[in-house]
Amino acid sequence: MSSLSYYSGSSHHACSVDRCQLRIVLTLNNFGKRFYGCCYYDVDDEPTCKYFRWLDGKTCKHGFEVAPIVLARISTYKNQARVAQEKEKEASDREKTAIEREKVAKRREEKARVIERIAKKKLQKYKFALVVSWGGFLPFFFLCFLVGWKNLEQSH
Ligand SMILES: [Zn+2]
Repeated sequence: MSSLSYYSGSSHHACSVDRCQLRIVLTLNNFGKRFYGCCYYDVDDEPTCKYFRWLDGKTCKHGFEVAPIVLARISTYKNQARVAQEKEKEASDREKTAIEREKVAKRREEKARVIERIAKKKLQKYKFALVVSWGGFLPFFFLCFLVGWKNLEQSH
């Protein structure tokens, strides 16, 4: 293995310049300097591979002057992005809540409709029972009336 390559025991891969990514430093000390870094390298993650090779020399005077300005702007943009993400999440949560409420309302509506349907069916049954009972009683009353009338006629 040459001095330009590096074998990472923890991540089990070999790094070399041609396999690495060209990156740019955005810290105050080495602002703007380019380097070759492992393609598996992640700023937010634990460094699993130590392969590292500078491409540029020391940061120039102008680079040092401009670094804080650029970093401040990046920080502002990151904050704005974070705020926007939070707002988006809030909106998404509100939407989810609204959808959930709508579902509950629909379920209630459906339940109310079923109850109404059952009540209507019951009412129909009662009406039918009433008609049938009257239909049965009326001839009976009529018969009673006729019998009573005839008895009255016979007694005279
Ligand atoms: Zn690597």
